[in-house]
Amino acid sequence: MARKDEYYVFAKGRYGLFELETLLWLLRQYNPRPRIWSARFSTGLFGLTSCPSGNKGPKKFNEVLLALGDEGLAKLIDLGFITCPVCRPENTTGFWDAAKDAVQRKHGLASLAAFTDKTVLPFDARRVAWEEIVSLTRYWPNRLYVPKGLMEVKLRDLKGRIQNIGHGFPPVGYYNSEVAERFTEYDLG
Ligand SMILES: [Zn+2]
Repeated sequence: MARKDEYYVFAKGRYGLFELETLLWLLRQYNPRPRIWSARFSTGLFGLTSCPSGNKGPKKFNEVLLALGDEGLAKLIDLGFITCPVCRPENTTGFWDAAKDAVQRKHGLASLAAFTDKTVLPFDARRVAWEEIVSLTRYWPNRLYVPKGLMEVKLRDLKGRIQNIGHGFPPVGYYNSEVAERFTEYDLG
């Protein structure tokens, strides 16, 4: 069970649970030091640890997955995360070379432009491999952001999927800039 100062990290082919200090130790095992990618469970976006948008709000082990280097980048793409439009991780050196096999495998897309185009892959946390992630964390994130205007049948599908995974039920809703909490929850019944 994770403690509040620990985070899940994907490195060297497996998940580990690390305190910050242990993570810094792990990073010293690499030469050169790998890039650290940060994936946010509630939105299904990943980006840089310096992201002003990603660093908003509470971050706990059930909200964030860190992943190291090119291998970590491919893993996050395989898990269904897409690029953050604020920090734009796709602009980092070597991104596409490290990402392209996973993008092809996961989405059948052959260009960086298509992968990062939100009309091709829209914001939708349903894309994330919750079956793998929640089996690991045993907690849902505090919210799931899915598209606005989802039809009832789609919401029923999602409810069934969440129930099959188990470990409780997160609030599911959509981004709404017109309310203070920027989130409007769906009634899943
Ligand atoms: Zn970002």
